[in-house]
Amino acid sequence: MPNSILRTSGFAFLLSSLPISAAQQNPRPTAPTPVKVTEVDVNAARPDPQIAEALKQISPERIQATIEKLVTFKNRNTLSSNDQEMVSQGLGVTGAAKWIQEEFEGYSKACGGCLQVKTDAFTQPVAPRVPTPTPLTNVYAVLQGSDPENAKRMYLVTGHYDSRNSDTFNTKDAAPGANDDASGTAVSLECARVLSKYKFPATLIFLSVAGEEQGLDGAKHFAQMARQEGWDIQAVLNNDIVGGNTTPGDTLQRKETVRIFSEGIPASAKPEDVTRMRNLGGENDSPSRELARYIRATAKEYLSKFQPTLIFRRDRFLRGGDHTAFNEEGFAGVRFTEYREDFNHQHQNVRTENGIEYGDVLKFVDFAYVANVGRMNAVTLASLASAPPPPANVRIDTRGLTNDTTLTWDASPGGLATQYQILWRDADQPDWQHAMNAPAGSTSITLPISKDNVFFAMRALDAKGHASLPVVPRPTGRIDTPGRAAAASSGM
Ligand SMILES: [Zn+2]
Repeated sequence: MPNSILRTSGFAFLLSSLPISAAQQNPRPTAPTPVKVTEVDVNAARPDPQIAEALKQISPERIQATIEKLVTFKNRNTLSSNDQEMVSQGLGVTGAAKWIQEEFEGYSKACGGCLQVKTDAFTQPVAPRVPTPTPLTNVYAVLQGSDPENAKRMYLVTGHYDSRNSDTFNTKDAAPGANDDASGTAVSLECARVLSKYKFPATLIFLSVAGEEQGLDGAKHFAQMARQEGWDIQAVLNNDIVGGNTTPGDTLQRKETVRIFSEGIPASAKPEDVTRMRNLGGENDSPSRELARYIRATAKEYLSKFQPTLIFRRDRFLRGGDHTAFNEEGFAGVRFTEYREDFNHQHQNVRTENGIEYGDVLKFVDFAYVANVGRMNAVTLASLASAPPPPANVRIDTRGLTNDTTLTWDASPGGLATQYQILWRDADQPDWQHAMNAPAGSTSITLPISKDNVFFAMRALDAKGHASLPVVPRPTGRIDTPGRAAAASSGM
């Protein structure tokens, strides 16, 4: 039988319909012939002049103005929405929410109403750090995608605008939260201000949540709403403590980098997913981790002097963040946090004791640093929203023993993709090392590379070189069936 016939879907259907015992006993006698490996540059993306132009408009002065304004609300504790004295003076979390909404509306006015400014307001029920039912408001702006075929695909940036001092329940005394997390809020707002001047095929959401310090309450509500509404959010960038804290005398802070935390085994993984990862080594390829790698690749393309440090864990020890609320609802999401935190400047009453200054005050925030984090967020969002989605239904053939690897896929939906690429890396390497273009019009490829020795992924590119997030293939065959996985791994 000629190879061209072997690759047809009819043949694949015939083989997959064979009893499992027959398929697994022998190498497939009719396996496709592998093609020659022809590598291309793994850094596929080409700088987009529009994104490079947007990058230049991220303004340290605007970011400074936002952070300074947020500090004037005195105490943005989420519980202050029940403190009538604070509310009546326009202070507290309620005053801050109103101001953020007006800010988004101002950006929208400047772009001819291009942003839909919305609130997600609800009453947070009693919880360990919420003593009475408490009104909570998330504020967000949506830049609708310009391509109807791609506008359902969304990318989201967020920061939390609530703050706290030493006492989680205190709503009156200063809780400036300049770094935690006016800095992250300023990143989300600045991305909205700048990116709303442009059009992208996919949709961007600029979010600012409350309730983080009480237990991720705002992000949880928003993520659950998004899941229930079926929103196709493909990436969440959570910015929390991105102020580049500057403590006099501290020489260990690094201003040329920001940490990006990403979960390994997804919080939303089902038992059968965990079984598959255990059998095949999938614990380093969650969608959140592919997002972290994508941010690094994008930063390399656009930002010469400011690069991320990827941390392959969900969050720091003893701490949590809003990206986890999204991860738990099944969304890919990462956390941006400055390289070195000063815990005297977080969650502390503002005071000086024994010559040590405590409190999250303005003077420790480096606005130029926050702007660099803003630039990294902006180029990532713009690249993702310009790119096609990854190819669909990507599979790695595991139906028989072979030292070759066969990948199959369906077209990337939405009509933007003009090229598919296969990525791979050695099994002990943290990031993609190799890339090869799939032949035009193809939906499968067989390579003379053993899937036992490397990890594979695929991505889609458009005509201008915008690259999608990579997607890791799922196995076609018995390893994808949980009941058989353990037996398969012990018997092979
Ligand atoms: Zn925080």
